[in-house]
Amino acid sequence: MLNVNLLTLFPEMFPSTLGQSLSGRALDKGLWSYNCINIRDFADDKHKSVDDTPFGGGAGMVMRADIIESALLSIPEENRGRKIYMSPRGKPLTQNLVKELSQEENLTILCGRYEGVDQRVLDAHDFEEISIGDYVLSGGEPAAMIMMDACIRLLDGVMGNAHTPDEESFSNGLLEYPHYTKPAQWHDMKVPEVLTSGHHKKIKDWRLDKSEEITKARRPDLWDEYKE
Ligand code: SAM
Repeated sequence: MLNVNLLTLFPEMFPSTLGQSLSGRALDKGLWSYNCINIRDFADDKHKSVDDTPFGGGAGMVMRADIIESALLSIPEENRGRKIYMSPRGKPLTQNLVKELSQEENLTILCGRYEGVDQRVLDAHDFEEISIGDYVLSGGEPAAMIMMDACIRLLDGVMGNAHTPDEESFSNGLLEYPHYTKPAQWHDMKVPEVLTSGHHKKIKDWRLDKSEEITKARRPDLWDEYKE
């Protein structure tokens, strides 16, 4: 059971895609839950402002540390768990990190907007920064959803027993082999013969060969690590 506290200016964005399909069914079954905290509820002026201009000048606005802190402190300490700020300059989200996070009982995710958040709130409350890739989104909410989706599918009871996450891309350091299903012939394309042979050892070897071939061609960085 994973509970995710979301510090956001857009609570209505959740659960969005997480309310559908696998993660949606898991939400209905109570295998995970979420709790949106609207940062704007903690603004203390009549305009409900949550941001201000950056010291030192420059374009854009920065979310205020004091208001984010008030929002954070509204979550009971024992329910906060690891505190994460979604951020393009964070450590990359990898499958290993996803596995680690999916074993937590609570996570608190801060979704930034504008130019980001005042550094002091990150320092004062030991937020870890996590990035979903080398590009810039307009806000942390879609990044949080991606990270949550990856974690939720690994929770106990979410995927069927037959599913083995150990064989998926990244789990053994390789990208996954290609899949085929019926019909065995489609247009002029036949399924590789070995897959219809019923010979388990040969199928296993073929899949490993394909995984290695694809990883070597597409992700030399993963291939180098795998070889080591
Ligand atoms: N000024 C920031 C920079 O250059 O690094 C970008 C701010 S971005 C417009 C607004 C918010 O989107 C960020 O505070 C962060 O929460 C989120 N965000 C954008 N790109 C992201 C990424 N690649 N991974 C995770 N979060 C991201």
